[in-house]
Amino acid sequence: APRVGVLALQGDVREHARVLGDLGAEVVLVRRPDELASVDGLVLPGGESSVIDKLARAFDMQEPIRDAIAAGMPMYGTCAGMILLADRILDGIVGQQTFGGIDVTVRRNAFGGQVESFETTLDVPALGTEPVVAAFIRAPLVVEAGPGVDVLASVPAGAVAVAQGGLLATAFHPEVSGDRRFHRMFLGRVRSRAV
Ligand code: GLN
Repeated sequence: APRVGVLALQGDVREHARVLGDLGAEVVLVRRPDELASVDGLVLPGGESSVIDKLARAFDMQEPIRDAIAAGMPMYGTCAGMILLADRILDGIVGQQTFGGIDVTVRRNAFGGQVESFETTLDVPALGTEPVVAAFIRAPLVVEAGPGVDVLASVPAGAVAVAQGGLLATAFHPEVSGDRRFHRMFLGRVRSRAV
């Protein structure tokens, strides 16, 4: 079984751990550099990106995560996790940093606040013909993507699922809506790299 981590500083860690476990992965909750070093892939959960950023720096995890990204470790970020994988953010809090790795600019809270949360169906051709039920909760939006970025799904305003190299990110939360295909895709990427 692939051994994958969920960054467990803040956010919907349990939901991701449950989906990954159901799909047969060995799941490690990652809070320290040695835990990160023990996994073949990492999920960055939804939550609050500014808090995860601050805690990652306080726990000396920012540099190890950036190093792992540079080394090609597969990662999957949902919502706040997408923000953390973006090279550039708009409407971050003062001093907010990201790990980076995906050549995109994301606008934080692009769809409005918590009360503007919504669920919709999205076409994601890379996952087949069955649309994805996607939950957007204070979600970010990709407002600009570099030429090396694969856009996997869009809404009229911009991209909401992207991939580049080992990194995958969605503005929405499949771990909440129950669609496991993005996690399966992530585990496939982990497996093909771990052999
Ligand atoms: N708005 C949050 C942020 O800025 C993301 C919300 C979420 O992950 N559901 O990180």
